Amino acid sequence: MGTTNHMTLEFPAIAQNVEFARVAVACFASQIDSFTMEEIDDIKLIVSEAVSNVVLHGYDNPGGLVRVHGSIEDGILTITVEDTGRGIPDVEQARQPAFTTSPDRMGMGFTIMEALSDQLDVTSRPGAGVRVTMKKAPRMTGSEEHERGA
Ligand code: ATP
Ligand code: MG
Repeated sequence: MGTTNHMTLEFPAIAQNVEFARVAVACFASQIDSFTMEEIDDIKLIVSEAVSNVVLHGYDNPGGLVRVHGSIEDGILTITVEDTGRGIPDVEQARQPAFTTSPDRMGMGFTIMEALSDQLDVTSRPGAGVRVTMKKAPRMTGSEEHERGA
């Protein structure tokens, strides 16, 4: 239970790296034995939504970076996805379902991240970037699974 681990990834904000980030974070998250396959799938989805946002909206010019930090503490996974791009002028508005600044998008990324994580925090300083922090813990601990005969 008390295992502590952490990792940092940094890569260019390009579409090819969305899959890289989601697989890498899922692999890291798998160290928490009690996560089910469904929960690992949730983690893949929230990571791809957060990283896609940086790829799509983060930077005015090519060359910008995404930084992903993961930590495991007391059986809880914390993932931070950060950029140093244009930022979000009104975070509360951006988090509303169906709000988007790209007419061809659904505006559902933050709503999905919120639904599939236990806690979502979004902070931004316009012109300085966005930081998205998501926490997720297994719904059942290992001993509860054992009791259910899983
Ligand atoms: P979808 O995720 O459904 O494809 P979307 O990306 O527009 O559409 P959200 O992910 O909910 O929807 O994001 C809402 C809005 O917040 C975006 O349209 C964009 O204006 C802004 N936004 C999100 N992430 C960033 C970011 N890293 N940098 C700048 N703006 C962002
Ligand atoms: Mg999005």
